[in-house]
Amino acid sequence: MTKNNERYKIVNKVKRIVIKIGTNVLTSSGHRLDTSLMEHLCLQVCWLMEKGKQVIIVTSGAIGAGMQILGWKKRPTKMAKLQAAASVGQSRLMRFYERIFREEGYNVGQVLLTRDIFESKKGRKNALATLETLLTYKIIPVINENDAVAFEEIRFGDNDQLSAMVVELIGADMLVLLTDVNGLFDADPKHNGKVNFISEVRKITQKHITIAREGTPSKLGSGGMESKILAMKKVLELGCYGIIANGKKPWIIKDIFLGKKEGTIFIPEGK
Ligand code: GLU
Repeated sequence: MTKNNERYKIVNKVKRIVIKIGTNVLTSSGHRLDTSLMEHLCLQVCWLMEKGKQVIIVTSGAIGAGMQILGWKKRPTKMAKLQAAASVGQSRLMRFYERIFREEGYNVGQVLLTRDIFESKKGRKNALATLETLLTYKIIPVINENDAVAFEEIRFGDNDQLSAMVVELIGADMLVLLTDVNGLFDADPKHNGKVNFISEVRKITQKHITIAREGTPSKLGSGGMESKILAMKKVLELGCYGIIANGKKPWIIKDIFLGKKEGTIFIPEGK
């Protein structure tokens, strides 16, 4: 790895970064919150902060954590049960983020959003002012959807879309989606023997969307690869960079921001 490589130049110049951590990253063996992995990821976020970057976390895992606490083995299908699980899990989740970052000298600010906030001018202005103020005071915003009360009409549905909307709202330079696969392949690696890794995408085509759609849906999270690609499409349209990478790999955030060729990078046209 040299400081002349393109990846290094990109990650070096981005300042405001949204990092979304998926349910499949945060939970191990199905339902348990993997707190040592969470800690490892948070320490890398602190490393980025020390480098002068601004980091906004979008976290999933509330429903998964709630299921763990309540002893529910299967993801409920009834909305009220999902919301109850999210309500229980969200506070557990925040307790960990709060403790880990506090030990490193950082405060966190929980921000729970619903789609309608983004749809009104006043809602956007208000959410933006809160986020900007948190960043001014070097407080790490930890965002999730307000699952406990969000009903169908105001739901994002998954945090991939939510994080792309956050990128737009706060004018971030890069979106990092951390999931449990290494990035984008030319076929679903869970079902095909030999697949090729795609390390760079400059334009999202129908082919990318089709491959992603055929991928295995997640049992715990609600996103899947298709929604990640659609989030990246939005990010590219905004002229921002994106990376889909494996959040389970040790030192993944550090490696990405050292310019190592981790994950699939999305580079907007003309950059
Ligand atoms: N907001 C959901 C949660 O915290 C996750 C949505 C998603 O999987 O993207 O459980």
